[in-house]
Amino acid sequence: MRSDKRRLRDLPSVDRVIRETPHLIERWGAERVTAVIRNELERIRQNMALSDIIDKASSLKHVVSLVEAELENDATGSLVSVFNLTGTVLHTNLGRASLPREALAAVLAIAQSPSNLEYDLQTGKRGDRDRHVERMICALSGVEAATVVNNNAAAVLLVLNTLANNAEVPVSRGELVEIGGSFRIPEIMQSSGCALIEVGTTNRTHLKDYENVINDNTALLMKVHASNYQIRGFTHAVAESDLAGLAHRHGLPFVIDSGSGNLIDFSDFDLPDEPTVAQAVRNGADIVTFSGDKLLGGPQCGVIAGKQALITRIKNNPLKRALRIDKMVLAALVEVLKLYQSPSRLAMRLPTLEVLTRPLAEIRAQAERVMPPLAKALAPRYKVTPAECHSQVGSGALPVETLPSFGFRINAADNSDQGLRQLAASMRRLPVPVIGRINNGAYFLDLRCLDREGDFIAQLDRLE
Ligand SMILES: *Cc1c(COP(=O)(O)O)cnc(C)c1O
Repeated sequence: MRSDKRRLRDLPSVDRVIRETPHLIERWGAERVTAVIRNELERIRQNMALSDIIDKASSLKHVVSLVEAELENDATGSLVSVFNLTGTVLHTNLGRASLPREALAAVLAIAQSPSNLEYDLQTGKRGDRDRHVERMICALSGVEAATVVNNNAAAVLLVLNTLANNAEVPVSRGELVEIGGSFRIPEIMQSSGCALIEVGTTNRTHLKDYENVINDNTALLMKVHASNYQIRGFTHAVAESDLAGLAHRHGLPFVIDSGSGNLIDFSDFDLPDEPTVAQAVRNGADIVTFSGDKLLGGPQCGVIAGKQALITRIKNNPLKRALRIDKMVLAALVEVLKLYQSPSRLAMRLPTLEVLTRPLAEIRAQAERVMPPLAKALAPRYKVTPAECHSQVGSGALPVETLPSFGFRINAADNSDQGLRQLAASMRRLPVPVIGRINNGAYFLDLRCLDREGDFIAQLDRLE
């Protein structure tokens, strides 16, 4: 048995490894490769991980392979594109909406050179970044003015901090929702400096519940779209128009956090009904907030739309600067809103709507094409069965409605849960990771969102 000291002496020098790796230096540059070699050698020295190295030659080979692996690993990066076969179309953890081609082109153009982001080309003076989208938002939702911030959470925060700081805001107990774990209405209200006054009960809230708590310190009335759940049975909520009437009788603004930001009539696309921003405005909302990357199908942002006087106050809040959107997001949003100006073509141009309205027959036909290579790649450990399934819209839109869809139910031949977990893990390790869903003792793939079919099939033979 050789001593560890002896083995350490067998470790090649940095220079020796560099001489062995011209192909890596060619690709990654000398500084990067040298740094990785130093790191790997140091790691070996600390861990004494040389137990399987028997001589200098194999030690050199070992180090080179470690350096290679490390560089490759870095190149992949941690943020990668995946196949979302979970059945949830707007999956928050998987990045929600995919952008249309027009938006991608605009992001590229605006990102790579200076632009008139905040510059008025007519006057040659300082301009306003909201100007690029404000008129389109107004036309699509029937409001007087609009501004855009980082996301809908920021929109709610900014509205409340501007209009209700150090004041009271009554909200129904049935609307104190949590969205995606980190957005909770009570916590956002606290962060914005306003006091939440809970009214009514979880299942029933009446107009008089609001009426009873309004006092001189009430700043506004607010309604939160209960996006990700539905209360059924013995329930009562106050209609938007009634709440607007009450607010206006007391000279208070009426704010609606509408969540998903739907700008079109879903029944035109044979989709379940979802209230639109324009309806909220017609019902008397003075301010409506919504996300850009939910049903709207755009980039992550939060739109605040409403009365000019209120929007002006909101834009003058110093927090606006901290919450504003950047030029790439704005470029994408401009293009997405432009698509909305031709609603009849929207389902062909906007990926979110295209996926939501994808005909079942087309998904079935795709399943027939994917079935043979998938079954072959998974045999004999797993059995693949074509299966009807139901997609969800996700991200708090249409929480209880589902869209009939099609995909695969996959069982382990030994019927073990461990087998399913191993399969899910192998799918996640593919070059373009595949994300499915384990449910009721099976692994499900919903093909509604499968876009790059050729790539999906081609990588199946790399399943471990
Ligand atoms: C999704 C949602 C939010 C949070 O929006 P983000 O854009 O994720 O910040 C806030 N309120 C409601 C009602 C929502 O549905």
